[in-house]
Amino acid sequence: MELEGVLAELRGSFESGRTRSLSWRQSQLRALSDILHKEEEGIFRVLKADLGKHQAEAYLHEVGSSIKSLNHAIKNVKRWMAPTKAVVPMVAFPTSAEVLPEPLGVVLIFSCWNFPIGLSLEPLIGAISAGNAVVLKPSELAPASSNFLANNISKYLDNKAIKVIEGGPDVGEQLLEHKWDKIFFTGSPRVGRIVMTAAAKHLTPVVLELGGKCPAIFDSLSSSRDRKMAVERVVGGKWGPCSGQTCIAIDYLLVEEKFAPILVDLLKETIRRFFVRPDYISRIINRQNFERLSNLLKDPSVAASIVHGGSLDSEKLSIEPTILIDPPLDAEIMTEEIFGPLLPIITLKKIEESIEFIRARPKPLVIYGFTNDEKLKRRIIAETSSGAVVFNDAIIQYLLETIPFGGVGQSGFGQYHGKFSFDIFSHGKAVAGRTFLIEFSFRYPPWNERKLQL
Ligand code: NAD
Repeated sequence: MELEGVLAELRGSFESGRTRSLSWRQSQLRALSDILHKEEEGIFRVLKADLGKHQAEAYLHEVGSSIKSLNHAIKNVKRWMAPTKAVVPMVAFPTSAEVLPEPLGVVLIFSCWNFPIGLSLEPLIGAISAGNAVVLKPSELAPASSNFLANNISKYLDNKAIKVIEGGPDVGEQLLEHKWDKIFFTGSPRVGRIVMTAAAKHLTPVVLELGGKCPAIFDSLSSSRDRKMAVERVVGGKWGPCSGQTCIAIDYLLVEEKFAPILVDLLKETIRRFFVRPDYISRIINRQNFERLSNLLKDPSVAASIVHGGSLDSEKLSIEPTILIDPPLDAEIMTEEIFGPLLPIITLKKIEESIEFIRARPKPLVIYGFTNDEKLKRRIIAETSSGAVVFNDAIIQYLLETIPFGGVGQSGFGQYHGKFSFDIFSHGKAVAGRTFLIEFSFRYPPWNERKLQL
């Protein structure tokens, strides 16, 4: 079917009102849940094919997290749909007022390749919960996952109202020529700009879930138990999910000079313990990204700063977990988002300098802080700006549906997860009503001095 035909069908389904009912929304969310349960093996297979993801990693970061989000939405969608009563000021007495969430219409979701299932389903859950008709365009760079979504979403869900359209930038551009009621985009700032420019033509609101460099301030924790746990969380958070190809992965560490050698030893030991087999770590998505990452290491002064790893296998597209100490701050590895398994450590005289370091750069999606120093925590929260601040762990915030997920400044705008996903795909319609019980004539002309004194 031509794109015009697809869009007309979706518009027709939305206009018919079928996507608005609670039962439709819940049935579609349950159908998504069925896909995750019944087609789990297929998901493991496609994630292996696209990214070499181990089954345990695939379950933890894509299947399990999506099931959790679905259960939350199925349980709460009725409550989310209910109008919220508003307090009415005395001056308007007697008036009833409420905010009624209404679906936006036909929405477009672009997803990314690093969590090709999870990052497609997470916004889709929000769009369905809010009662919209949807087009999902997965990333062409994870073709097996894209194909899996196209086949299974059309098999399990109402495909007169929910469609997957596969393809690359050309298809993306065609989609952007049309009028949507919202565009939800996960990807790079470069394509984010293309999306926003195209959306402006139709005055379509957009959500941009972008990336950037997420710093982690690593304080010299005094207890060896805390240190060990913190280092495991750094290694797990940096290389665990998709080998660092994660928007919320730690991009670089900020550490006091005197503590850096101790930290490097702990990191090396943990990496050796965690990644005992090569298939415990995902590979790089494609040759282009492999080359991009290899080039980051080619600069001689960057290469000289490698203290662990650095070996690359261009056939398997795998890169060893790599640690660098103090690469030049003007090298690309420190000016561009890494989005891969390389971890620069930047040393500072005092850990407090990390705040200035972060403030001097674009606002990140997340700032991580590994510290027990309450004063430092308060300063990080108060003196920096980022989509989120997370202390003493990494990635965990993705699972907390009660706090919003999203960026600020260069890391994007618009927040989702849990009820925030419902809200971002809804319009909060203001509904006010009065009765004819009573009237105050001071509101009307003729104006006179007495009315001014009221
Ligand atoms: P990308 O921006 O190239 O692609 C994202 C989507 O846009 C894909 O579906 C792709 O097909 C589509 N697209 C590409 N070119 C297009 C065009 N000209 N017109 C229309 N659509 C087009 O993604 P990438 O650069 O490979 O992804 C990595 C980036 O995504 C990183 O910056 C990362 O931080 C970010 N990211 C952010 C999040 C988040 O939740 N904030 C999650 C994952 C990735």
